[in-house]
Amino acid sequence: TNKLQQAEKLLHEFRQSSATPLALLHQVANDLVHEMNAGLAVEGGSDQLKMLPTYVQNLPSGKEKGLFYAVDLGGTNFRVLRVLLGGKSGQILSQEFKEVAIPRELMVGTGKDLFDFIAGTLAAFVDTEDESLKLHFGKVRESGFAFSFPVRQTSVKSGIVIHWTKGFKVEDAVGKDIVKQLQDALGRSGHQIVISALVNDTVGTLAGGRYNFEEETMVGCIIGTGTNACYVERADAVQKWEDPLPKSGEMVINMEWGNFRSHLLPRTFADEEVDRESVNPGCQWFEKMISGMYLGEIVRHVLVRLAEEASLFGASVPVKLYERRTLGTPAVSKMHADTSTDLQVVAKVLRQVYGVETTTLEERKIVHKVCDILGERGGRLAAAGLYGILKKIGRTGTAMNGATDRKKTVIAMDGGLFEHHGTYRAYMEETLQELMGSGAAYEVALRLQNDGSGIGAALLAASHSQFS
Ligand code: ADP
Ligand code: MG
Repeated sequence: TNKLQQAEKLLHEFRQSSATPLALLHQVANDLVHEMNAGLAVEGGSDQLKMLPTYVQNLPSGKEKGLFYAVDLGGTNFRVLRVLLGGKSGQILSQEFKEVAIPRELMVGTGKDLFDFIAGTLAAFVDTEDESLKLHFGKVRESGFAFSFPVRQTSVKSGIVIHWTKGFKVEDAVGKDIVKQLQDALGRSGHQIVISALVNDTVGTLAGGRYNFEEETMVGCIIGTGTNACYVERADAVQKWEDPLPKSGEMVINMEWGNFRSHLLPRTFADEEVDRESVNPGCQWFEKMISGMYLGEIVRHVLVRLAEEASLFGASVPVKLYERRTLGTPAVSKMHADTSTDLQVVAKVLRQVYGVETTTLEERKIVHKVCDILGERGGRLAAAGLYGILKKIGRTGTAMNGATDRKKTVIAMDGGLFEHHGTYRAYMEETLQELMGSGAAYEVALRLQNDGSGIGAALLAASHSQFS
């Protein structure tokens, strides 16, 4: 029918404007490397990538021992956890956590309210500590603080909030030491808990990778509500670093790559809409194209256009389709994963979310293709970013004649989107291998470092412990 042809035509155009051929991805990776170099050269050298030195000098070795806590403020969900580290055995003997949603009004309220909520949650969690664990902390309880927003660190346990992302906007907390704000709130809670490490969630993930995996973990990357990556850089490559070089000769750099903005990124009308409606228009373009907070919204905008211009869901557009944030990324990944011949899952999601009672198989196929185009684009762009990092640290390239001992680089991954969106993840893994090429001198593996940010923060509190 005519309507269907119109929909196919729109879909075809959309697919073209979202395309990520390999050659383009190589250029995107080169652009990223260019910005990385600019950001390392001088403070503010890149207006996209902050390339923040993290002051993390001791990545966990496996010998850490004792009871440590962590607070993980990442986005939608907030976690507190405790881990008992076994020492020489290099093992986590026990771990417990509690997850709470941050009430929406606290995400855009005052620093005091937000940190009192966080401190109160940690304090209540400490109160549930088993008697048998009390032997295992040093003089006082220590906690790591995984904080997944841009921070200019001033030491391993202090740092200034630069700005908020992912829907948070706590204006009066900006420009102040985030650890002091939490430490003060902990004081008000009446509990003695010391924050020993301020850890970006990507750095926590990297630390967890170092603790857990045999091969060398060089990169930590999160794709959840938002996205970011950190990596181990040669300290002398960080030209803007003015303090004495760390003994290890290495420095973990928090890239804040969500704000990467190559003009080569295949942006569409839907990306423009999402950007315009966000709390930070013009910022975080890379994040807005690949992460969970936005993927569902992008799909929704495309469906709106298909409904308006090709009557995809009947003569009138379902009213709810115009409502923001009605289509979550989990719903998109569910539809994308639908392998039934009649796309029952797609039908069910459309019915449950938008009240669309009847759809034809052809219509459902179009919805499925939209999910696929955007999942593919996101996964492939994320892979290009990681490839750029590997290129920067010299872990790509062609093997010399006859060389057989290909060294393996591990990329520790975390985040709900990477963990749960199987098709996205498959695109990402496949594309990374494609970019490396078959004759590469290095192998690379993406490994899920589950709850990387939280456990990593506890591990880094241990490796930077002040009391034990
Ligand atoms: P955060 O990034 O807030 O620290 P997570 O790493 O747990 O938290 O990521 C949560 C995000 O992951 C959600 O906002 C959502 O976008 C995405 N997500 C969660 N479950 C799924 C799923 N099943 N499929 C796709 N995306 C998911
Ligand atoms: Mg997180």
